[in-house]
Amino acid sequence: MKGVVKFARGDGNVELRDVAEPELLPGHALIKVAACGICGTDLHILHDEYPTNPPVVLGHEMAGTVAAVAPDVEGVSLGERVTALTYSDTCGQCRYCQSGRLNLCPRRRSFGSGVNGAMAPWLVVPARNLYRLPANVDDLTGALTEPLACCVRGVLDYAAPRPGDVVIVSGPGPIGLFSAMVAKITGATVVVLGLSADERRLAIARKIGVDHAVNVQQTDAAALVRDLTGGLGADIVIECAGAGRSAQTCLDLAARGATYVQMGLFGAPVHFDLTQVALREIRIAGPFGTLPSSWSRTLRLLGEGRLDPRLVISDVISLEGWYEGFRKAEAKDAGKVVLTPG
Ligand SMILES: [Zn+2]
Ligand SMILES: [Zn+2]
Repeated sequence: MKGVVKFARGDGNVELRDVAEPELLPGHALIKVAACGICGTDLHILHDEYPTNPPVVLGHEMAGTVAAVAPDVEGVSLGERVTALTYSDTCGQCRYCQSGRLNLCPRRRSFGSGVNGAMAPWLVVPARNLYRLPANVDDLTGALTEPLACCVRGVLDYAAPRPGDVVIVSGPGPIGLFSAMVAKITGATVVVLGLSADERRLAIARKIGVDHAVNVQQTDAAALVRDLTGGLGADIVIECAGAGRSAQTCLDLAARGATYVQMGLFGAPVHFDLTQVALREIRIAGPFGTLPSSWSRTLRLLGEGRLDPRLVISDVISLEGWYEGFRKAEAKDAGKVVLTPG
């Protein structure tokens, strides 16, 4: 079968190439992949700014159908539509595993970076990682469960906005748009910030119903936030661009005592005025990835129709068009780009 493979460390070194079809292992299920999102992490992997174990098939945002299960697997049926938690391997022994923080296990390996992922027609994953998709959640939407679950965790568990709060989301890429969408259902006032290059994404932000979607190169975001907050600043700022300027803007716009949540990955160290964090008693949180609880909550919200990420999908592309998909995702002229390997 063909898969999008990172074949060596270093910038680039990704191509569509022949790979062996995966073997069904004990405790695992074979999934026919219907859809796989292109994530910012995949772009970092392309540029070797994220650890991988090459040669490895990329792709960790997946929906598909169960095609086979190992004989020792119970509770998973053939033909079920599923998505999968990305951690293929965690040690089960370390203090993080023991306390349920699987995302922090030092021996964690995820499909799409540590082991073969879903940018290929077939995927083998541990059956315990599978989550059934609600009937109203189509494959394209189901593939977005993982990035949505990251945002559900970051926004609901760490930023924790309440009705009446003013929330800034800086960076209108898919993670920013999903974070804004999750913040919006809490009843907060949500302001999304972007640059001129992000106009298409800011338009998507308006479509999903955020209160203000602002091009900071044309509009004075500080004046807007002062207006909205009586001069105090935002209650919560969520950095989703992974850019130094954006991080500093978030800090500048935060009220005293605000919460700053770092969702974006920078790829390199950035300048950030930590003195302001101390003087203004800013709380900083760095949520990374998901927990199983993030998945069940996200799927419940999707099933109830309270989150609908379809407006964020801008491009659906076959596996052969992967390079065009990566290019679009990187050029910021797209919302979410989803590949259809199946
Ligand atoms: Zn992702
Ligand atoms: Zn562990």
